Amino acid sequence: MSYQIEQYRQNYRDQVIPRHYSGVLHLTFTLTSLSATAIFLFSRVQQPGWLDLLLIPLMLLLGELAVYGIHKFPLHRPMRLVSRFTFKIHSLQHHRFFTDACVTWRDTRDFHIMLFPPFAIIGYILVGAPLLYGIFWALMGPNAGWIGAGMGAVYFLLYELVHFCSHLPEDHWVMRIGWMRYQREFHRLHHDPRYMASHNFGVVYPLWDFVFKSAVKPAPASLSRLTTSKVR
Ligand SMILES: [Zn+2]
Ligand SMILES: [Zn+2]
Repeated sequence: MSYQIEQYRQNYRDQVIPRHYSGVLHLTFTLTSLSATAIFLFSRVQQPGWLDLLLIPLMLLLGELAVYGIHKFPLHRPMRLVSRFTFKIHSLQHHRFFTDACVTWRDTRDFHIMLFPPFAIIGYILVGAPLLYGIFWALMGPNAGWIGAGMGAVYFLLYELVHFCSHLPEDHWVMRIGWMRYQREFHRLHHDPRYMASHNFGVVYPLWDFVFKSAVKPAPASLSRLTTSKVR
């Protein structure tokens, strides 16, 4: 790791992460609150029709498309009003803390720069989910409302999990899963300063980068390195 990155990481740990911050608590809150929200919303569904069920894959596609757009624009381009929460946290902090040469975390306090802040999750529960419920309820009825809002929570959870795993060490047991191996390498390339503002914006899967021709494909050699590293 270069001296500059090491220095940046140390400054971030000393000056930005609150002294009493707990990464384990942050991760637990993220996983349990999003899972509980999804379970509650799905529990309201009664005898859904096939059109309602079609919302499940559709929301996975739309969720990733929305993330593609958010990642490409507000997170990687300074925009008035939101820059403090988007460009600054993502481009100036997350991308300086993790580069393609150094993509893994050191200890659980580093979760601070990997996971969404809790207010984003509370925002989804209080604003995002009711909004999605209202939109799909108005378009297709109550079952669609519950499924649409529930799938929003599932997509959010998937995003957090896959992005978290993309910053795990390359010899972690999770890399036994082919999808994770590919997505970790795909995301590692996005952390290359040459590509970060223009390529590999997909986080859960790479489809939209291929559609919009912004994909840098992982080299087979780097994927097989993940396959053959001694998995823990
Ligand atoms: Zn990242
Ligand atoms: Zn990025």
